[in-house]
Amino acid sequence: MSSVYADVIVDITNEKLDRTFQYKVPPELTGEISPGTAVQIPFGNGNRTITGYVLSVGNEPKYPQDRMKAILAVQKDAATVETKLIALAAWMRHTYGSTMIQALKTVLPVKVKARGKETREIALLADPARCEELLENYRKKNYKARIRLLNALLAQPVLPGPVVSKKLKITADTLHVMEEQGVLEIRRTSTWRNPVSDAAGRTTAGKPNEQQQAVVDGIRKEWEGQNRPCLIRGVTGSGKTLVYMELMERVLSEGKQVIVLIPEIALTYQNVERFCARFGTRVTVVNSRMTPSERADQMERARRGEVSIMIGPRSALFAPFPDLGLIVIDEEHETSYKSEVTPRYHARETAVRRAGLEHAHVVMGSATPSVDASYACETGAYALFRMDARYGNAALPSVWIADMREELQMGNRSILSGKLREEIEKRLEKKEQVVLFLNRRGYAGFVSCRACGHVMKCPHCDVSLTAHNNGKLVCHYCGYETPQVHACPSCGSPYIGGFRAGTQQIEQNVKKLFPKARVLRMDGDTTKTKNSYEEILSSFAAGKADILIGTQMIVKGHDFPNVTLVGALAADLSLNAVDYRAGERTFQLLTQAVGRAGRGEKPGMAVIQTYHPEHYSIQTAAEQDYGTFYEKEMDYRRLMGYPPAAELLAIHGAGEDEAHLTQAMEYIRRYLIRIRGNREVQIIGPASEAVSKINDLYRMAVYVRAPQEEVLAGLREKLERYIEINKGFRTVYLQFDFSRKY
Ligand code: ADP
Ligand code: ZN
Ligand code: ZN
Repeated sequence: MSSVYADVIVDITNEKLDRTFQYKVPPELTGEISPGTAVQIPFGNGNRTITGYVLSVGNEPKYPQDRMKAILAVQKDAATVETKLIALAAWMRHTYGSTMIQALKTVLPVKVKARGKETREIALLADPARCEELLENYRKKNYKARIRLLNALLAQPVLPGPVVSKKLKITADTLHVMEEQGVLEIRRTSTWRNPVSDAAGRTTAGKPNEQQQAVVDGIRKEWEGQNRPCLIRGVTGSGKTLVYMELMERVLSEGKQVIVLIPEIALTYQNVERFCARFGTRVTVVNSRMTPSERADQMERARRGEVSIMIGPRSALFAPFPDLGLIVIDEEHETSYKSEVTPRYHARETAVRRAGLEHAHVVMGSATPSVDASYACETGAYALFRMDARYGNAALPSVWIADMREELQMGNRSILSGKLREEIEKRLEKKEQVVLFLNRRGYAGFVSCRACGHVMKCPHCDVSLTAHNNGKLVCHYCGYETPQVHACPSCGSPYIGGFRAGTQQIEQNVKKLFPKARVLRMDGDTTKTKNSYEEILSSFAAGKADILIGTQMIVKGHDFPNVTLVGALAADLSLNAVDYRAGERTFQLLTQAVGRAGRGEKPGMAVIQTYHPEHYSIQTAAEQDYGTFYEKEMDYRRLMGYPPAAELLAIHGAGEDEAHLTQAMEYIRRYLIRIRGNREVQIIGPASEAVSKINDLYRMAVYVRAPQEEVLAGLREKLERYIEINKGFRTVYLQFDFSRKY
């Protein structure tokens, strides 16, 4: 019988997580040891006994056996949060393909020191008279550093931390003494310094109405029975937040903790405040604007039980709560729930897994659930709950579809259709507000006809072709190529090419057409600084502008009660994305955009401008008809063999040498063909990626399609080993991505 060895990590809060030690597993313990198990081990020269965590188990010793120590015991009582999170990391490693260390670093709260990244500010508290006194005093005692600092603060009352420590060379000790004397205050910069204070006095949603109560009751019943993940499909404004809060209350009253995932883009003050107003200081927030150490602090507070609700984007999922009861995922369909770095996990799936390991519940909500989540409801893996009426029976906005081909025929070359222009005028007269939304998602060099809207697509994959600078149009799924066209194959017009219209251009146009209107623009350019995003939204919400122009970031997160008109410009731009999910994204964006109109007392209206008025994504978004959209979209996925009708594994490769990369990817393809065994496994590519070169790295992909996920996971593991033992792959970077889980 071969011996068994375990890699054990001894200090999981260490920055260098890869420091593991190998131990022998005594035969009587072999059955009890798996990734995450807490074990007692002898450590160091004095043979202290300490606790470690098993990361992996294998048959190959890395040291001479006689020098290797053995695990002493398994810590049985200790299903600590660490063991649970390590088990989760092991699952992520297997499912998404990464090293154990990469998975652990994603999952565990690594302690980071805020080295070189000071985020403190030093603010003067003392009044001028007191400062005079102090200076006098310091001079007497010859406190040079204090004099330097006080003088600097008198010139500029708030100084950035690095200026104080580096330029003025003030030590931490000096700062603390002066803080204790009330001379100054050391502030940590954080947008959420005190999320609760302002909330007082604001009214929050009261008691649940009938529709909300029915969902709350239904979900509780599910919890007592099968405890499947629950999906709330509720139209915009149906009041999903109150449903979450009622369920949270229940879980908290049992002494358990709650994680609330909200996409970064919707993680606004307005949204967080609703939770703070109800749950007070039990709430904490993490977001990507915080420094790693600030985030680590909040995670530590969660571990110690100082807070019981963690709100944040994707990464908040790993809050180390000792007794997790519920994970809420708001706006479940958001693409930001999918990680872009290895392990490329999806927060929804990982949440379901974590909840399974810790006997917690998962509740997610969206007005436009992902096709994947709805499919899971269809198969019975998730339980579905619906909320079809808006709270207070507010009417859904009426929608007008403007056919831009007709506009062109009637001689209107402007960015705005006649109808939209007319409606904007009316709103300006009535002093109501307008949102103009330019859909730019997925915009990536596709080629379309400005006369008829025809888009060049791959005949095999039905995704848009991309113009390359070698004069060819290329499909990024299968590698199909065709020469660039100079006349539209559909109508013969010579006006065929890449689409270019930015928010800036629209702003200029709108200002010319409506010279008296106050216009705000929000896009990547105007939101570069930390808080500008919030500032623009709040000043619009406060009525300081009539028209807000922006990209998809404006359709999320904020309530604008005085907005009664939403214009979706180039609504179908995202239909042309180089991606089989283009129809889904378009439907989601448009539905959310339309939902922004008429959130207050006044009825709303939306105008959708499009070249594809007949497309089902546009039609069903206009009717706010999710059911029909889902049916049509699934027909399409089945027809084309795209997820969730099938499983898709993408193997992304990047390398400096194009020829070498091509060859490596070709080897991968051939290897996969050799081992696939089953004809139902299809291998597609290699082909260049949508962006074929980034930072001097060429990028290519191979896709593998199969009916079941397990088949792909099996292929991936074999492929991983093949790549590991072949030196030729050392100079290419490879990433595995299960595309179903975006
Ligand atoms: P959703 O997230 O489903 O789009 P929200 O949860 O934001 O909807 O609710 C929409 C609006 O209705 C919010 O302004 C909310 O405060 C209000 N609301 C929802 N339910 C209630 C309730 N039971 N009582 C009072 N106001 C409510
Ligand atoms: Zn044409
Ligand atoms: Zn193709």
